[in-house]
Amino acid sequence: MFQAFDLHTHTVHSDGTTEPEDNVLLAKQAGLAGIALTDHDTVTGWTQMREASERHGLLFVPGIELSTERDGRSVHLLGYWVDPDDGALLAECDRLRNERSRRAEQICERLAELGVPVDMQRVRQLAGDAPIGRPHIASAMVEAGYVGDITAAFDGYLADDGPAYVPKYAVDPVNGVHLLQAAGGATVLAHPGVSEDGGGPVTPALLDELAAAGLSGVEVDHPGHNPEVATRWRSLAIRHGLLITGASDFHGERKELRIGECTTSTDTLEQLQAVASKEPNSTVSGSPTWS
Ligand code: AMP
Ligand code: ZN
Ligand code: FE
Ligand code: FE
Repeated sequence: MFQAFDLHTHTVHSDGTTEPEDNVLLAKQAGLAGIALTDHDTVTGWTQMREASERHGLLFVPGIELSTERDGRSVHLLGYWVDPDDGALLAECDRLRNERSRRAEQICERLAELGVPVDMQRVRQLAGDAPIGRPHIASAMVEAGYVGDITAAFDGYLADDGPAYVPKYAVDPVNGVHLLQAAGGATVLAHPGVSEDGGGPVTPALLDELAAAGLSGVEVDHPGHNPEVATRWRSLAIRHGLLITGASDFHGERKELRIGECTTSTDTLEQLQAVASKEPNSTVSGSPTWS
């Protein structure tokens, strides 16, 4: 029987609006066999998602979407089955959390100068315990009535080329691949054809570098990739002998996406897990456990 997995979803533990269990239930409704949790720069939701997956009979794939940066362009890396106690990875996540907090304050200062003062306390409330992301600021702007929706907040203010944009310092993507690998994970380049952060899509030259650094796969099937873009990245991935994954990048109410919109096959998932179990610090052993 064909089984499908959604390998990229967010929750309230980063800039999504749902709890881990909600994602699991949505995955079950969509007929998926399993689901990954890939919050930005944190593994906080893993325990909840693992328990919910066990309760509802789905396979849980633990992941993280690590923020990296090259030439003013955000490059997102998905790390699966990383060791959640890896010191270097946790240190980078802590550093990014502080960086995100500092940067959110600067963005709010810019917004005030632009005549749309957003209450930083409200942004912190919206983020809760999660690392603060631009979507939290966008939600505060919608609440305050400055913009009609999240997209308008990005288009008018928060996008990389927008007037309230402030960059965040992050490691180079090549170092990001090394960091995730050293933590025992399998690494996939997230949505390379989506220019969501203004700097444009990832270049084929960067893919060459990441492949040489030990990248395992490319997220080719993503709602932000039109068929032409997906075809281009599919052939680039094949040329490098990389695995091809698919996922929704679900963010709850903050993006109009459905869990299961794009998916990954069992075969690809097993190949990814085999990579993770070969990494030196890996905590993964044996083949996937199907509940
Ligand atoms: P940050 O991590 O704070 O730089 O924010 C990046 C996140 O903002 C991405 O992961 C998306 O969830 C969201 N995002 C980026 N660009 C847009 C956009 N144009 N519209 C809606 N959400 C966006
Ligand atoms: Zn996000
Ligand atoms: Fe992303
Ligand atoms: Fe994402």
